Amino acid sequence: MNVTATPPLRQLLEALSDPALLFDRDHRLTAANAPSRALFDVGDEAYTPSQVLGSAHLTDLVQEVADTGRPVRMGITIEGRELETTAAPVADGVVLVFRDQTARSRVDAIRRDFVANASHEMKTPVSGIQTLADALTVTLERGDTTRSHELAERLAEEASRLGRLITELLSLRRLEEDGERVHTPVDLAAVVAEEIDRIRVRAQAHHIDVDCELPGTAVVAGSEADLRLIVSNLLDNAVGYNRDGGSIRVELRAVRGSWRLAVTDSGIGIPRQDLDRIFERFYRVDIARSRATGGTGLGLSIVRHAVERHGGTVAVRSILGEGSTFTVELPVQPPSPAARPG
Ligand code: ADP
Repeated sequence: MNVTATPPLRQLLEALSDPALLFDRDHRLTAANAPSRALFDVGDEAYTPSQVLGSAHLTDLVQEVADTGRPVRMGITIEGRELETTAAPVADGVVLVFRDQTARSRVDAIRRDFVANASHEMKTPVSGIQTLADALTVTLERGDTTRSHELAERLAEEASRLGRLITELLSLRRLEEDGERVHTPVDLAAVVAEEIDRIRVRAQAHHIDVDCELPGTAVVAGSEADLRLIVSNLLDNAVGYNRDGGSIRVELRAVRGSWRLAVTDSGIGIPRQDLDRIFERFYRVDIARSRATGGTGLGLSIVRHAVERHGGTVAVRSILGEGSTFTVELPVQPPSPAARPG
């Protein structure tokens, strides 16, 4: 490229981490830093704004700033990227600086969705509690103790559903935040054994056989609370989406520097078209069944986030009507800072 910009201006542009372009008074490109060369088609020749920017809006912007001598800021989408563009007059012409806001917009959209979904999910137990409380007042006035006891029990169930939803929302928020990560040695085998003991009573109530193959110890570097969330959510689902008289098999094995946990159930299975979506928050294949099992639609989303925080992976295989296997692989060593997902 013809380098006609003064060396200090060129150096200044190169020092910017955001894409930046400089046009001279004759509207010829005189400097483009490395990030802008990745964004725009900048070769070895002096280009006009329309040749470089390929956008009438940006070309007009350069003209406007050159004419008025005042800086202008505008948002523009180029090839699916949302760029906040600042055009400012400088001694040699007009400088354009682009800030990529695509990721931020996506995070904002996810947050908005999250709040909307969470409020919607909370409405059901809250309105249930209101209705039951009204009914309870009536039965108490009538002196109908049997019915009052029944209603009080259902009231307690709805309140605990709401409590569970709030606890899970808080867990998910904590996992989604890129806060300090704990990497202390945790015996995954002990966590799995304890969680199996916890679900046995519920499994027995449905005549579900729970069988496991665990090593003596399986140490991974991580957070015990988060590892427990992974195991408990997978086991709760293996019971909740099973059939009476069914079975659950839990295996923990060493595989290539990782521990692989596989939870297989003989339950209802998951339709193929839903397999990709079940890890999304609030996604449920069958809302009625999820509610019946006390589900909130957040369990697998919590699993996915907790696994990713440990630098691991989670996968599912399922045959509708026959059962599912969820497999989690957790590296023995903690992920290096650069490899940690955000
Ligand atoms: P929920 O609280 O509804 O169980 P999850 O996030 O744990 O929420 O799971 C999302 C959905 O994935 C469930 O509603 C259910 O439809 C499906 N699912 C999860 N685990 C299993 C399983 N072991 N067998 C069949 N379906 C499952």
